[in-house]
Amino acid sequence: MLKTDVCIIGAGPAGATLSHFLHKEGIDHILIDKATFPRDKICGDGITVDVLNVLKRISPELLEKFSRESEMLPSWGFAFKGTTGKEIRYDFKNDGFPLAPFYTARRLDLDRFLVDNLPQGGSGQFWPATEVIGLEREANGVKVFLKDAQGEKELQCKIIIGAEGEKPIVTRYLGLEHYREKKHLLAAIRIYYKNVQGFNEGNHLEFFFDPKLLPGYFWAFPLSNNEANVGLGMMSTAIAAKKINLKKMFQEVITTNPHIAPWFAEAEALESTKGWGLPIMTPKRQIGGDRYALIGDAGGMIEAFTGKGIGPGMMSARIASEHIRVQISKSNPNLSSYHEHMYKYYHTEMRTAYSLQGVLKYPRILNSAISLANIAAVKRYAKDRMVHDFLRWV
Ligand SMILES: Cc1cc2nc3c(=O)[nH]c(=O)nc-3n(C[C@H](O)[C@H](O)[C@H](O)COP(=O)(O)OP(=O)(O)OC[C@H]3O[C@@H](n4cnc5c(N)ncnc54)[C@H](O)[C@@H]3O)c2cc1C
Repeated sequence: MLKTDVCIIGAGPAGATLSHFLHKEGIDHILIDKATFPRDKICGDGITVDVLNVLKRISPELLEKFSRESEMLPSWGFAFKGTTGKEIRYDFKNDGFPLAPFYTARRLDLDRFLVDNLPQGGSGQFWPATEVIGLEREANGVKVFLKDAQGEKELQCKIIIGAEGEKPIVTRYLGLEHYREKKHLLAAIRIYYKNVQGFNEGNHLEFFFDPKLLPGYFWAFPLSNNEANVGLGMMSTAIAAKKINLKKMFQEVITTNPHIAPWFAEAEALESTKGWGLPIMTPKRQIGGDRYALIGDAGGMIEAFTGKGIGPGMMSARIASEHIRVQISKSNPNLSSYHEHMYKYYHTEMRTAYSLQGVLKYPRILNSAISLANIAAVKRYAKDRMVHDFLRWV
């Protein structure tokens, strides 16, 4: 039987990042994905400063290489536009950053970049086009059942890592609770467009609020080659309560919203609408324990307000690697310390995101918050804090 110390299911940003860190530690592992890369993943393609931080921690050269790829578009700020059209915009162009604090990159390119740059001949292997079809606990580890072009095979590991994204595998096969309730899920759709007009010259990430869409939001993120990633998302509980059809809502918003429709006057959709779920952070979800850890979307690492999940997913991989390093030599590895560490790390961000998500139910409060945030002293204070935080990361 094939054997490895750590088996990672899923080579998205979370799984691939963990493989990078285990290579650095010299820990024997196998990274498995049912897809062949490059592969698409439905996403907003917005890359936040925490992604840049993790890339730098893997190696400064990797971050440097990332920033030089032509598909990765530097983005120097972001804006939230309220239902009245009033906006709060933060521009970081002149704030002393060595690199833009945000980027956009199609997931086809970001995820390919991460797996293509895995070290060759190190302590790990990458098996694409290999599907995990079952798991079974054994006395000394976990048996993984796999299927590839040659047929079925089995792999034995000491620690199993769920990095399989939103559709749970590890929790399901190990009989753990996997929190698929609507209250822990956002739903969103994405469409690639070309010729969307109105982007800031610093390629800002643009968020719009439409009265019909609250407590959800609409986004338009510029991409390389005059293309854009456009979409909208909302808590699944609100979709069910309001009986909303996201595809219809999208068409309505881009044709009737006075602050959004002009951006689409000459735009052309490059694909049909595609939807996917976003499992959000909830401290109730147990993400580490007896011989297992859940990272990225498999562990529900999405921030509830903006839908940001790539950075937290990669950060969860980095943190998991520290606990794997400590536990791997033990006779019964247990990753509950990873669980504690992650929720401590994200405690403030998670609480803030939940509070902001609550504000979205009330257009008046949302618009007042945007007006308040535009008061010069408030804006300066908020921006100084962001600059201070971001500079520590890049
Ligand atoms: C519409 C939308 C917009 C979003 N916008 C943003 C954004 O702008 N910025 C941001 O930061 N986040 C965004 N997110 C969230 C972000 O996409 C996710 O948080 C991120 O993809 C999580 O990465 P991951 O590595 O955990 O999982 P994934 O990227 O989903 O990767 C999981 C991998 O596991 C593999 N896999 C699954 N099952 C198996 C199996 N049985 N065997 C083997 N392999 C398997 C899959 O093939 C896949 O490659 C958005 C999400 C959605 C849905």
